[in-house]
Amino acid sequence: MSHVFHRHLHHQYPTAVAGDGPYLIDAQGRRYLDACGGAAVSCLGHSDPQVRNAIAEQVANMAYAHSSFFTSQPMEQLADFLVERAPEGIESVYFVSGGSEAVEAALKMARQYFLEIGQPQRRHVIARRQSYHGNTLGALATGGNAWRRRPFEPLLMEMTHVSPCYAYRGQESTETPEAYGERLAAELDAQILRLGPDSVMAFVAEPVVGATLGAVPAVPGYFRRVREICDRYGILLILDEVMCGMGRTGTLFAAEQEGIAADLTTVAKGLGAGYQPIGATLVSGRIRDAIAAGSGFFQHGHTYIGHATACAAALAVQQVIEERNLLARVRGLGEGLEQRLRDRFAEHPHVGDIRGRGLFWGLELVENRETKAPFDAGRGINGRIKAAAMQAGLMCYPAGGTVDGRQGDHILLAPPFILEEQHLDEVVDKLGTAIDQVLSR
Ligand code: PMP
Repeated sequence: MSHVFHRHLHHQYPTAVAGDGPYLIDAQGRRYLDACGGAAVSCLGHSDPQVRNAIAEQVANMAYAHSSFFTSQPMEQLADFLVERAPEGIESVYFVSGGSEAVEAALKMARQYFLEIGQPQRRHVIARRQSYHGNTLGALATGGNAWRRRPFEPLLMEMTHVSPCYAYRGQESTETPEAYGERLAAELDAQILRLGPDSVMAFVAEPVVGATLGAVPAVPGYFRRVREICDRYGILLILDEVMCGMGRTGTLFAAEQEGIAADLTTVAKGLGAGYQPIGATLVSGRIRDAIAAGSGFFQHGHTYIGHATACAAALAVQQVIEERNLLARVRGLGEGLEQRLRDRFAEHPHVGDIRGRGLFWGLELVENRETKAPFDAGRGINGRIKAAAMQAGLMCYPAGGTVDGRQGDHILLAPPFILEEQHLDEVVDKLGTAIDQVLSR
């Protein structure tokens, strides 16, 4: 028996032993095409030589130095790299070990900002239902994913949730996308007024919703209205780009495509591409300056902040993406993936919606396309599709937000940026076979 406390205690996991570009290889020599990057992580595949060298070199020089004693070259260089390319206003970067930590840091930074500027009454956070912001308690409380929250509900701090921007289910048939976005903005506005605008600290959202719904972008104009509303009431906008950021949607930050800039932006997954665990909170000059001018100290920290080896790996990842012009590749491959998904699934009786951006795509599976009724949760459709795909040598991510009070079935694709066109055929062929195999039973 394994002594590892695996998440699924009764599941037999294959043992991954090697990586080969977009493939992972298990101890039996079986190859799995990583069509979801694990969880939208492995954007450079699993064997990039430049990144491996950067890690080896950093470990040989100095693997780690605690951030309360030292800064390090990789940490400084990575911060410079990100700030130079970040949306307007971002001036500094707080490095952590993953997405949940980045969200926790953003929440605490928002709170401390308001203390520093003499607005201690601001404490409410508004987020959206059908969102995921991480599994630590603060991030879990922020997220609106009912299934993940349920067992821990009594432990979660109070948060307010408004409707997500989820056109497939939220937009009325009589409504334009713009009118839908406007209606959601009005809901946010009303919620702020209900709580009292001076008591609200931040609004948190994923520009493209990932883990709950499987790649759902907002309707045009929605985020611009959100930005305006936050500005009107002096509320900070926190964009969680842990999954959709770092090039996944075809631009380095997903917010670029919305034409807005956040006050705090969280990134992780694609930042280090899985070569090392790393996340970051990107901080606007306004927030940094307020804390610098006030206490001069952010009252929060972890042991592995700015881990030198993790920063060196992430810097190498980002340099490779830039040197090889991989964001253009994401956009091109994204079009190819969308086309193949539409060719294969547009008429499929159980694929209700196909949506996404760049190399970030989701399928929503439904029992009935006309009524959009989800499958019975007891059937565990998306988990079974994941298992069938693994059998066929394909990794896809089963996202599961609540739909009509039931766990929905969404399949998320987030393949590495280094794919070749023929890999797109393999992804869609194997996925189609896995879906049909599960649904025919
Ligand atoms: N935010 C978002 C948008 C995410 O998708 C995730 C992970 N799926 C997290 C936060 C949490 O990141 P981590 O698992 O690295 O803690």
